[in-house]
Amino acid sequence: MNVQPTPSIVPLPTDRIPIAGPWITDLEIRYVTDAATTGWYATANDWIIRFEKLYAQVTGRRFAVALPSCTAGLHLSLAALGVGPGDEVICPESTWIATSAPISYVGATLVTVDIEPDSWCASAASIEQAITPRTKAIIVVDLYGNMPDMDAILDIAARHGIPVIEDAAEAAGAVYKGRPAGSFGTTSVFSFHGSKTLTTGEGGMLLTDDEPLYRRILILRDHGRGPNDFRFFNQEVGFKYKMSAMQAAMGVAQLERLPELVERKRAIFGWYRDRLAHINGLTLNSEAPDVTNVYWMVTAVFDAALGIKGEAVQEALAKHRIDTRPFFHPLTALPAYVDLPGREQAPERNKVAYSIAPRSLNLPSALTLTEPLVDRVCKTLEQILAAGV
Ligand SMILES: *Cc1c(COP(=O)(O)O)cnc(C)c1O
Repeated sequence: MNVQPTPSIVPLPTDRIPIAGPWITDLEIRYVTDAATTGWYATANDWIIRFEKLYAQVTGRRFAVALPSCTAGLHLSLAALGVGPGDEVICPESTWIATSAPISYVGATLVTVDIEPDSWCASAASIEQAITPRTKAIIVVDLYGNMPDMDAILDIAARHGIPVIEDAAEAAGAVYKGRPAGSFGTTSVFSFHGSKTLTTGEGGMLLTDDEPLYRRILILRDHGRGPNDFRFFNQEVGFKYKMSAMQAAMGVAQLERLPELVERKRAIFGWYRDRLAHINGLTLNSEAPDVTNVYWMVTAVFDAALGIKGEAVQEALAKHRIDTRPFFHPLTALPAYVDLPGREQAPERNKVAYSIAPRSLNLPSALTLTEPLVDRVCKTLEQILAAGV
């Protein structure tokens, strides 16, 4: 089976097996070269508009805003929704800190909720319990390319009249009940960081169907200047969150190749599953029947009864030049949140997040991995487990 139909022009490093990395072809080079050549003066925005239009189309949304990062998209979402000091924002305990940091940027308070034991995404029941009269937004994360129980979460949010922000940074190409990741939030945001399935080096995209919110975001992201204000008469102090034509050109190429990128991620997961599924007490990413998981990071969780520490497995694999990462530490366990109100109760409240993190790890998931390399990772992992970590 030819699982890599388009040759990657960027070779995988040979000294270590990396944790993540892109799949770049001639198409990306051609488009970026065009942007570097033509993306100036009157045509400076052409590639950006093309990327936004295509992204809106692929996710079925009305409006798309290309950004320098997903973090910027989360910040703009909260700012445009008017979230500020005194407000609470709900966010899953298990995620990259980029999801929660913008809550602090706008002066609001982070309230963490637990994750589901199988999807590792925010638990609807935990979200419902965390809602107070001060809750102004709920951020959900499509973790590691999987999807949360969106029906239940959107229902709870609608009943309480609270907007949902979908952090789809890791989920380009994922599907929940026939709908693509990025189609669920009042705003939905993606990351195109170099480690992500679809990359522009650095970059992000915000999607929404809400026109007034979209207009507000356009002003906030350009120093408080309206899109057609050629008097440069700033209405307020805003932010500067824009993407360049060269990044957008790369994004168009990657987006045109998204089906192929997703197929590759799923093939990589399949190679791991075929080799690791038989190991007692080891669980890989789950996939519900109505979900297409895009397996951004293949993740192994060891049963608590085995007493295996993810960190010890990581160290052992590193000695064999295999790079891995820890499962996301619970946000409230990070030094960054020592002063967070209610932090002491978080391990009790968010038991699943606290239980999974120390006994799991992300395995190499770069898009240009080959089956023999995955085989090497799995054999090494088996040897390490057999020797006892
Ligand atoms: C990568 C990531 C982000 C941040 O993306 P940037 O583009 O680096 O800002 C946000 N949320 C999650 C879940 C991520 O994995």
